[in-house]
Formats: sequence, structure tokens, C-alpha cells
Amino acid sequence: MSAILEVRGLGKTFGGFTALNDIGLAVAPGERLGLIGPNGSGKSTFVNCIAGDFLNHSGVVLFKDQPLTGMKPHERARLGLTRTFQLPRPFRSLTVLENVAVPLRFSVPPLAMADAEARACACLQLVGLHDKARSYAHSLTQVDLRKLELARALVREPALLIADEVMAGLSHSEVDQILDLLFAQNVRGTAIIMIEHVMRAVTAFSQRLAVFVAGRKIAEGDPRTVLATPEVEAAYLGI
Ligand code: ADP
Ligand code: MG
Repeated sequence: MSAILEVRGLGKTFGGFTALNDIGLAVAPGERLGLIGPNGSGKSTFVNCIAGDFLNHSGVVLFKDQPLTGMKPHERARLGLTRTFQLPRPFRSLTVLENVAVPLRFSVPPLAMADAEARACACLQLVGLHDKARSYAHSLTQVDLRKLELARALVREPALLIADEVMAGLSHSEVDQILDLLFAQNVRGTAIIMIEHVMRAVTAFSQRLAVFVAGRKIAEGDPRTVLATPEVEAAYLGI
């Protein structure tokens, strides 16, 4: 089957600084891909280019064989490509349920409030936040904020989710909770790119691993093989 996401020759500069250099990467439907690399290696910039937050990059991004050139984030989300933000961005003065339902109100065609809330409830169940549906987002703990961020990205049942460091700073058991819900979503058919520093999670989750260093992809393939290559070990020395 052809790739759900195919990135060719992706480049991104900020002023004179090259943040991404000729990145090629493909993700198969339903695949679990890990993306790792030191801080500043370009992982979030890559997400921003794919999700439509940075439109002025070089190269092509194909989703379901369709070029996404010029498409804004909400248009890409409608096609089934969603992402989480490294720093969660909920509407803090809305409830958890409203936060998840609101994106559906802007889908095409828009869902009626009752339908949007029903879908949002089901999604909150999936991420384990259903008992906090009526809480305000600003009252949530860190782990619940991550779950809310995931719920907002998952409520559309995306074909591809990009999770950008959703586990950072969480405890061992909290990491396991997030890992479980990402596995559950993957079983439902969503391909997932997991960007993460929590190595035990990345190695448990990923069928394939890609490594960025200084804006370049330096390795890609079977996780164990990739992690054992000298270039990757060198990039991680001291981290
Ligand atoms: P990572 O997610 O791998 O930690 P980033 O993609 O956030 O890395 O950053 C890659 C590089 O691009 C860093 O040097 C960062 O400072 C730079 N960068 C990222 N976003 C911007 C921006 N909006 N403006 C200028 N430089 C940026
Ligand atoms: Mg980042």
C-alpha cells in the first residue's frame, strides 16, 4: 500500500539558519514511527511544516497522495492529519468537554453541538478523561493536560497523528498511561509519529525509528539497529 504521508526534500530556514535540510520520510497507513533527536535538531519544525504551521518551506509534503502545499492546519486536520503541541494549548477557560467538542463544530459540514459533544465524550473515554469532562482546562494536572491535548487531536479519528513530546516530565506510570492510549488509538487504525525523549517509550512503541541531528535525518530503520549505529550513539552522548 502506498504511504499515507510522504515527505520529499523538506527544507526550512529561519533567516540564515537552516533548521531542516533535505528531509525525506514516509509513513505507512497504521504505522508507528518514532522520531528522535537532540534538542534543537528540528523535530518540532518538521511537525510544523507537515501540519501547516510553517507554509514557507522547500520540498513537498504528500498526504494520501495529495500535495498539501499552501494548506492551513485546519484544512490538513479535516483531511485526517492532526498533531499535538509540545506545550499544550487548550482553551483554558473552557471545560474539558468543550475543548474537545469545539474543533468538531468547525468541521465541514459542522457538527451540531449535541453530536459534537457525543463524539467528544467518546474520545474523553478513550483517553481516560471522561470523569473530568466538566472541569475547566485550567484546573488540570500536567498528565491530564497532555491527555486533553491528545483528545483534541484524536477526536477527528485522524489517519495520522503526530505526538510531539507528550510524555515530557511525566512520571513512570503517567508515561505508561499515555503509551497505552497511543497503542489503543493505533489499534483503531491511526498511524502515529511519536516524537519523544523518553527512550523506553519510543523503543516500546516504534516499529521504525528515524533520527534527526542538526536538521538532517542521520538514520532510519529498525529501532534496535538504528540505536546501535555509531552516529546515533555519538549524537546521544551526554544526553
Ligand atoms: P527540536 O524540536 O528538535 O528540539 P526545533 O524544531 O524546535 O527542535 O528547533 C530546531 C532549530 O530551529 C532550533 O535551533 C531552534 O532554535 C530553531 N527554531 C525553531 N523554531 C524557530 C522559529 N520560529 N524562529 C527561529 N528559529 C526557530
Ligand atoms: Mg521540539
